[in-house]
Amino acid sequence: MDDTTARERLEKILADLDRSIGVLQGDPVGIREYSAADAGSDLTDADRAQAMLTVATTQRRAVIDALKRLDEGTYGRCVDCEKPVPDGRLEARPEAARCVECQGKRERRR
Ligand SMILES: [Zn+2]
Repeated sequence: MDDTTARERLEKILADLDRSIGVLQGDPVGIREYSAADAGSDLTDADRAQAMLTVATTQRRAVIDALKRLDEGTYGRCVDCEKPVPDGRLEARPEAARCVECQGKRERRR
């Protein structure tokens, strides 16, 4: 994947994430009150919104890091082993910072 395509895709993902984060953060008071009223169930809409917000915020950070790597000319290389990240992986996740192997190692450490 060339840098121009990567940048376009990353910027689109970023715009989508910003929109989702805006919606999820739209009514924090309402979400809190709703969650207090519904404290009996184990997973409320507010919990779900919070979980989605966490995922979106984490992904947003990854996308911004990827755009930074594009600026620095290191995009498409694994940040750990510096081998090229396969195109297929970047197609699926343009914000991927690591090759499958290094990402796997990282996730097992958690
Ligand atoms: Zn790697």
